[in-house]
Amino acid sequence: MPELPEIEAWVRDLDGPVSTTAVLRAGPAHIATLKTFEPPLAALEGRRLEGARRRGKHLLFPTEDGELVLRIHLMSAGRLRHLKAGAKGPKSPAFRVRFEDGTELVLTEAGAKKRAGVWLQTPAATEAELAHLGPEALDVDARLLREILANDNRRLHSLLRDQRALAGIGRAHANEILWRAGLSPFSLSTQLTDEEVERLAAAIHEDLERALELRVRGKSDKDVYLIHRRLGDPCRHGHDASNGGPIHQVDYEEHTVFYCPACQTGGRILKDRRLSRLLR
Ligand SMILES: [Zn+2]
Repeated sequence: MPELPEIEAWVRDLDGPVSTTAVLRAGPAHIATLKTFEPPLAALEGRRLEGARRRGKHLLFPTEDGELVLRIHLMSAGRLRHLKAGAKGPKSPAFRVRFEDGTELVLTEAGAKKRAGVWLQTPAATEAELAHLGPEALDVDARLLREILANDNRRLHSLLRDQRALAGIGRAHANEILWRAGLSPFSLSTQLTDEEVERLAAAIHEDLERALELRVRGKSDKDVYLIHRRLGDPCRHGHDASNGGPIHQVDYEEHTVFYCPACQTGGRILKDRRLSRLLR
């Protein structure tokens, strides 16, 4: 799933192109993709978008007249493209906006499961629906992070990717951030020392800013992720492999946590959580 750095890079890329001319035609949208019916998508037609914005992992396209917001959430498999006038687009996109200059904003979603969403609402309704989101991950300093951690006694990996606690981080960057901070994914949020909280806050900024800089330059996962999906690779922190070995993973039903035993768990290898669930 695209996370804050990738989505922020898209927002910066799309900001100019989507606001150059008014919307000529909005839709069609896949029936499972379009989440709102009133106002209809046609209400966008003839209006100009103000640009592209972001809140957490949501892309927001407010209209210049301040009356509507087009919101897109890509979930795992959704992808957005901006097509030049006359460019050949996908046959049946999940959603499409055509602009008066002939360019198109196109949402596609791989796979049979349609999970990405498109909403067209007033700014007030959009704000109400996003009110549950925590602060933007890049706005959080050590003091605010300490409050967030103290309010919710959870495993760090689970807390970091909870959008209600912090907005923008998902599974991949939770792996990256905890590795950078040298903290176990399974440490409890309320049990960190002040020094560990500071390290975690610094790691959030270092990791997300580095990733954003790479994404803006069009770099892909293999350049951005240093530990995520790198099972068996040597740890980039360059320590002796005998002390915990290469990058490990712990599998859950729906996702995998990657970590370096030497950097994060004092050399301890974590048990496969799927297996332990079966044996319980
Ligand atoms: Zn390491």
